[in-house]
Amino acid sequence: MSSTATDVKNAAAQGGTDWDPIFDEIGLPKDPTNIYTQTVATMLRAAEIINLKHRCRIILAQPKNEIMVHFPVRMDDGHHRLFKGYRVQHNNACGPYKGGLRFHKDVHLDDVKSLAFLMTMKCALVQIPFGGGKGGVNCTPRDLSASELERVSRRFTAAIANDIGPDYDIPAPDVGTTPQVMAWIADTYSALSGRSGPDDPFAVVTGKPVAVGGSLGREKATGQGVVDVLREMLPDFDIPIEDMRVSLIGFGNVGSWAARILADLGANVIAVMDHTGALRNDEGLDVYALADYTAQNGSIAGFEKRTGTGSKTTKHSGNGADVITEDEFWSTPVDVFIPAALEGMLNEERAKQIHCRVVAEAANAPTTPDADKVLQQRGIEVIPDMLCNAGGVTVSYFEWVQNRSNVTWDVEQVDRELNRIMCMAARRTILARQKYDTDMRTAANIAALEHLGDVYQHRGIWP
Ligand code: NAD
Repeated sequence: MSSTATDVKNAAAQGGTDWDPIFDEIGLPKDPTNIYTQTVATMLRAAEIINLKHRCRIILAQPKNEIMVHFPVRMDDGHHRLFKGYRVQHNNACGPYKGGLRFHKDVHLDDVKSLAFLMTMKCALVQIPFGGGKGGVNCTPRDLSASELERVSRRFTAAIANDIGPDYDIPAPDVGTTPQVMAWIADTYSALSGRSGPDDPFAVVTGKPVAVGGSLGREKATGQGVVDVLREMLPDFDIPIEDMRVSLIGFGNVGSWAARILADLGANVIAVMDHTGALRNDEGLDVYALADYTAQNGSIAGFEKRTGTGSKTTKHSGNGADVITEDEFWSTPVDVFIPAALEGMLNEERAKQIHCRVVAEAANAPTTPDADKVLQQRGIEVIPDMLCNAGGVTVSYFEWVQNRSNVTWDVEQVDRELNRIMCMAARRTILARQKYDTDMRTAANIAALEHLGDVYQHRGIWP
């Protein structure tokens, strides 16, 4: 039985799960706790509102390819360990598959499928010529030596080398992977492909160190994009960035850059939590010093005990920090809360606890559907991941363009183009929200689906 567009819109507004008949048609389990199911349900609700063609819905509801590999790696003590790796290629109607590689102990297929799906939608929303993919390896990089991490990266590349390529599928960094990991992947792929010159095999990955073809501005790009979107949207919510109070969960690449750029604009980052604990300073944490500390120590743990002066770059020079509990972190009053860690961390219980006006989803899928419902009921605006963190893939696209055309852009050009693309995507989302009178997540899905529907309409399905 098909639900009406109004029913679906109401269900979406309430964060409810309406079981679209497509779940039965393509054999997807109706498990509301499954992250891939949740992702597809959100897309189908938006598809119903705009009456997207059935063929597009079924194509998007499953990835095109799901690749799983097992590969042995020699560890430093001489024994061999078997690792499991994934690459999911969700859709390439708009261009080559594109998406990060995650090295984390909890990586599993549904997670990777969900993140690959999100990449398809994200690229469609910002309208760059890429499709969606994602991958990862079950491992804990912190527990590996540098040489073990290099061997894991190179062996994984060898295992999927026939399934990636500069014109076909272009991985990038994600949680647990770095520009150095990208350099090892590019070098391994290059050696295996035996190519060089205009067909630059290093374009197989983005997020590389600048010395081997990375783009200026890529390292901070996701955080910069978060801030570009906030600057575009916060005036609508009457929140000035100057002196705005912010808290963040996750202080890795995305979180620490968003924090630093916001501090440069005069915002106060009041509280930060990572996997080791939480810190607070009501005057604003010295996020430059915290980023330096985290880069050297691997986490924020112990920052409050450090000696020495604060950073010279922010107004918070020399400020200290107090260790707080997880509960204290979640209940710290702020204007904007930025989840920048892993999926599902903002759950129903935490959504009832947080004190903020806006949630800016810098991480992928940080908010569970139940939490989304609570936030809507509490009138807290959510700027969805597919818009908020699209800066990373956008500058990855710039890197790929530079590699393919043998040019380099200066950081001003990168930042300018990034800002243009992020602002246009934010406007597209706001327009869809106004047109369909819906929440921002559904609006972003609608804007992405309208583009994908248009692409399929023009391309057709052949043979
Ligand atoms: P990262 O590995 O650099 O940082 C992850 C952060 O999350 C760390 O500070 C870690 O301590 C924290 N964390 C992990 N487990 C935690 C826990 N249980 N509680 C609290 N904090 C925890 O990763 P990143 O590249 O900054 O990515 C963060 C998020 O942003 C991910 O969802 C990723 O998919 C998304 N994202 C990243 C990029 C990018 O360019 N790196 C682009 C788009 C989206």
